[in-house]
Amino acid sequence: MSNMVTKPPIMWLPAGVLLGTLVIALTIVPWYGAVHGYSWGNWLAFTVILAFNGFSITAGYHRLFAHNTYKAHPLLKWFFALFGASATQNSILVWCSGHRRHHRHVDDNDNDPYSAGRGLFFSHIGWMLRDYPTGKVDFSNVPDLQRDPIIAFQHRHYALLAVGMNLAPPLLLGFATGDVWGYLLIAGFLRLVVNHHVTFFINSLAHYWGKQPYTDENSARDNFWLALVTYGEGYHNFHHLFQTDYRNGVRWWQFDPTKWLINVAHWFGLARDLSRVPDFKIQKALLDMQFKRAQASLASATNADAWREHLEREYQHFLESLHEWNNLRQQWYEQKRTQLAEKTAEIQQRWRQTTISSRLQELEYALKLQRKRLHYLTLQFA
Ligand SMILES: [Zn+2]
Ligand SMILES: [Zn+2]
Repeated sequence: MSNMVTKPPIMWLPAGVLLGTLVIALTIVPWYGAVHGYSWGNWLAFTVILAFNGFSITAGYHRLFAHNTYKAHPLLKWFFALFGASATQNSILVWCSGHRRHHRHVDDNDNDPYSAGRGLFFSHIGWMLRDYPTGKVDFSNVPDLQRDPIIAFQHRHYALLAVGMNLAPPLLLGFATGDVWGYLLIAGFLRLVVNHHVTFFINSLAHYWGKQPYTDENSARDNFWLALVTYGEGYHNFHHLFQTDYRNGVRWWQFDPTKWLINVAHWFGLARDLSRVPDFKIQKALLDMQFKRAQASLASATNADAWREHLEREYQHFLESLHEWNNLRQQWYEQKRTQLAEKTAEIQQRWRQTTISSRLQELEYALKLQRKRLHYLTLQFA
């Protein structure tokens, strides 16, 4: 038959784990609860282990290992390696290699392992169920991770660690309290399924549902509701443009517990070299998108010519600020270099440095004001 496209073979191990645990969570878990009830201890263990898994994926697998947005103490790495294994989303090496490919080839159906262009089901879970060519494991993009002994150890013993870290905590709690089934079903099975699907939302829903304030060059979206259930990973539009930043919800008020956790780890000396994209670049991206949208809505405006003049003036303004910012950054770096070389004119240079950095701050502020002006301008002709 011509409409029968041969699909790649099913991968029975991941398919069995993903679907088997889902079926248990939807049938036996509610049935046992209805018959025997669950204790507050079951739910406490569920919450704590779920959070350990969640943060190991977001702060560990994602922002530390896949994107190198900060450096972590070995203690923290071990924590991520162990509770990442119990999140059962494959080893750090496999996960990060696929994720780096996702960023590099985002939305490219032939190279992005979970391309949103292949549908919601595929990008959520389908890509793990069959042996698709796009899912082929290839470690050529993770040589830095292969050199890390903790990551290498986790990869070598992944199966054992995954099974052990999934079963040991609920079983220990179960035997200690005499409630083995309660802990196993809630803190074991239900917890694993919730962690799975909440993480998978980032590949599926976060590429479909939400706003695109920073870029519309790819399908990634910023979505507060997804950030709520994914420890802050819902600000996916920002993340796809600025993947070297340890923050996803970059504004201080955006709900990004992973960013807060990394900050806390930093205070305790467990994380260092936190990488931030300069504020000016973030403002620039926001403005670029605003100009783009303004231009689009101007095309259908009634007295377009008058507004076009306004818009062009604003854009000129924007380019000038940009130019000045680039020059100042250049000067700032050069000053810093010479400051290290020559100690003599230190005070003078420090003074110049301060002048430059306060001018940079002024420029950042000017861009913020321009965004507001542009917003109101767009409202006028939209
Ligand atoms: Zn990422
Ligand atoms: Zn993505």
